[in-house]
Amino acid sequence: MAEFETYDREQVYQDIYARFMRMEVPPCTQCDSRSTASVQVGIIGLTIRLAATCRKFKLLANGPKPGKWFCNSCQKFFNIPDETDQGATP
Ligand SMILES: [Zn+2]
Repeated sequence: MAEFETYDREQVYQDIYARFMRMEVPPCTQCDSRSTASVQVGIIGLTIRLAATCRKFKLLANGPKPGKWFCNSCQKFFNIPDETDQGATP
């Protein structure tokens, strides 16, 4: 990944890791677990590391995403039905 070579990789990783750890994740719609993750697509060194260290980060090799969120407890993908309405209304 040539574009990352000029960045401080550690700083990029720490920034993204912190962003995910601060992020509010919705509880699972199927089992109410709060151990859920944002689904991301695309395997590069950085995302592999994040997937290994951050439980709010679910990595897929290829899209499309089966859901926007993933539950670590029941291992299911899910979407929040109301989510698209929030902030999207004029
Ligand atoms: Zn669940």
